[in-house]
Amino acid sequence: MNNHLLDYTGKVVLVTGAASGIGRATALAFARQGAKLCIGDVSAAAGDTVELIRKEGGEAQFVHTDVTQAVSVEALVQATVKAYGTLDCAFNNSGILPPTKPLAEMEESDFDKVIAVDLRGVFLCLKYEIRQMSKTGSGAIVNTASVAGMIGDPGMAPYVAAKHGVIGLTRAAAVDYASKGIRINAVAPGLVETPMTAGWLNDPAYRQMVVGNVPLGRPAQPEEIAGMVLFLCSPSASFATGGVFAVDGAQTAH
Ligand code: NAD
Repeated sequence: MNNHLLDYTGKVVLVTGAASGIGRATALAFARQGAKLCIGDVSAAAGDTVELIRKEGGEAQFVHTDVTQAVSVEALVQATVKAYGTLDCAFNNSGILPPTKPLAEMEESDFDKVIAVDLRGVFLCLKYEIRQMSKTGSGAIVNTASVAGMIGDPGMAPYVAAKHGVIGLTRAAAVDYASKGIRINAVAPGLVETPMTAGWLNDPAYRQMVVGNVPLGRPAQPEEIAGMVLFLCSPSASFATGGVFAVDGAQTAH
């Protein structure tokens, strides 16, 4: 059912990292509210997300995209506009995790890979999305940060640095474009049950440890993050820009 406060009928929405997890759930949620979706991902499994949307009667297309590459991101934005005529909203959500180890044992290559996808990727997406949105003088963007952008989660220094950086990019871009009709916010999920966290959550002892950090007592399902993204991109959030919105079962509340 289309909730009229979150009515995206005819709106054009770009989502990165929608082959699975939070991105897939959010793309589906936008489509159910009437949006036309353009999905950018390195994984061909994003084609399955497009199929799911089409099966439900929605409109979507997949553009193979590596968010670490400027030409690839620029082509994604161009393909979106070519297919659907404009770009109204974007959810910059692609991300990877490093292996879990303390900072002094982390390889430089792990640092570089995580920074490339999780931070440079968001920078490039913002750059090309904002160039397009500036043509119409309106738009709303949400970047996926993390609780790791607000606190120093153990064993993940490159990820913590990248996600703090995503919050910095969000604030900087929001300030630069507030007067241009473009709102830019970050969502900071806590522990979410997705392929990214499957290794932790499928191990009973590790699951107990990570869930122990969550006052709500369980991981979120990806759909529970999607709601915040749809709200932030909607006119209901018209005064929200430069904000960081935790959806973390109170993990960072204490
Ligand atoms: P996921 O592994 O299901 O999704 C990550 C997506 O990013 C995949 O579709 C993957 O193909 C894509 N991706 C990876 N490298 C890419 C690249 N170079 N170019 C384009 N796409 C690329 O994991 P998820 O948990 O749904 O993660 C989505 C986002 O949420 C990530 O930014 C992640 O850091 C963040 N996050 C996740 C959690 C969690 O607990 N799962 C918590 C906080 C934040």
